[in-house]
Amino acid sequence: MKKKVSYDAFWMPFTANRDFKANPRIINRAEGMYCYSDNGTQLLDATAGLWCVNAGHARQEIGEAMARQVAELDYSSPFNFGHDIGFEFAERLVEFTPTGLNKVFFTNSGSEAVESALKIALAYQRAKGNTTKFKLIGRELAYHGVNFGGLSVGGLTPNRTGFGPLLPADHLSHTLDVERNAFSKGLPEHGVEKAEQLEQLIQFHGAESVAAVIVEPISGAGGVILPPKGYLKRLREICDRHDVVLIFDEVITGWGRLGSPFAAQEFEVTPDLITSAKGITSGVVPLGAVFAKDEIYETVVNSAAEGSVEFYHGYTYSGHPVACAAGLATMDIYQREGLLERGRGEIGQYFADGLHSLKGIQSIVDIRNYGLIGAVQFAAPADGKPIGFDILKRCYDKGLLVRSMGNTIALSPPLIIEKSHVDQIIDTLAAVAKDIP
Ligand code: PLP
Repeated sequence: MKKKVSYDAFWMPFTANRDFKANPRIINRAEGMYCYSDNGTQLLDATAGLWCVNAGHARQEIGEAMARQVAELDYSSPFNFGHDIGFEFAERLVEFTPTGLNKVFFTNSGSEAVESALKIALAYQRAKGNTTKFKLIGRELAYHGVNFGGLSVGGLTPNRTGFGPLLPADHLSHTLDVERNAFSKGLPEHGVEKAEQLEQLIQFHGAESVAAVIVEPISGAGGVILPPKGYLKRLREICDRHDVVLIFDEVITGWGRLGSPFAAQEFEVTPDLITSAKGITSGVVPLGAVFAKDEIYETVVNSAAEGSVEFYHGYTYSGHPVACAAGLATMDIYQREGLLERGRGEIGQYFADGLHSLKGIQSIVDIRNYGLIGAVQFAAPADGKPIGFDILKRCYDKGLLVRSMGNTIALSPPLIIEKSHVDQIIDTLAAVAKDIP
């Protein structure tokens, strides 16, 4: 007989605990494109878990690689000791990163990757002799995880408020412009001028005080907000002019979400640091990473005396052997099945066409897409209460898992998606959207 589980003790993250526990949505099994609720209902996973299960659920070979690794070496300290699988995985990863970003600092999550990237940027400026450069610049509506550095540069108000003074940081305006760009297919036409705000902020604070700017190439949790054409290139030019480190937070956009391994390649703009997590192990086990330009690594490492620690930072589980084994198996799948390019191929186009076929439904005010990421924005209800969560619940009742933020629902299916799944997503969304007044 099935064991009865109590939902009392687990304080759930980013969840309305009381609402959930009154009406739990329990998923106990998943395979391929589908999850299964505790009563056996099949749910199409249109969000790849939390934008992470890029290779689809329950890939046996990832689990087998992890089991083999546990039997060989379950754990060993990454401080002053190494293991081959950590080095092997780092070498494998940099086969995918943009040219020049050949160094990997391992973390356990996206939030930790962000903290690490910010600290690497500060350590680099200091090692270069730029000792007064310590201010950070983020962007409105950005999500960079939940730790204090990420909150400081992040731009989602409910996440930031109530946590006291944060790090010295300023923020660019977000690039969402529904008025001018509604129903754009791919990158929006309007808004490149918003990049000039970086120049203004640097002038305002003084270039000698600004260390780094961090942006998500496409904001995920803020509502799938795309960069206007030319915007990211302009940020790069301004950073170069003022010796400011440019960080792309690619925790969502990395690992094939947009049709290239990273957004940096897709948009042909190379940052100095990239943060990664989620798809790096296809969500099977926690792992994050920062990819750094060689020059950043060399500058920091060569600034310390021979034989001494160069960067006082790291985690017990940095480069955990079992996570690295999962990551290597994930890369095998990505390459063998050509998953990282699918977003720019036929299925990416089919997904885009499907999404945009929803245009015209009265409750929908915008549709945004790129590769295998998309968003449908609904009109704000008159009572001011966001409707996204209500839509999430309606989709769940019809066998579809989506993500909600404000009045927007986001889609980021596993990269193994086929046309029949796209059809199911679009049909369900259309039915739900037509029911919204
Ligand atoms: N950065 C971005 C862009 C993210 O989307 C997320 C999570 O969604 C994070 C950082 C934080 O990652 P984690 O939840 O693994 O800490």
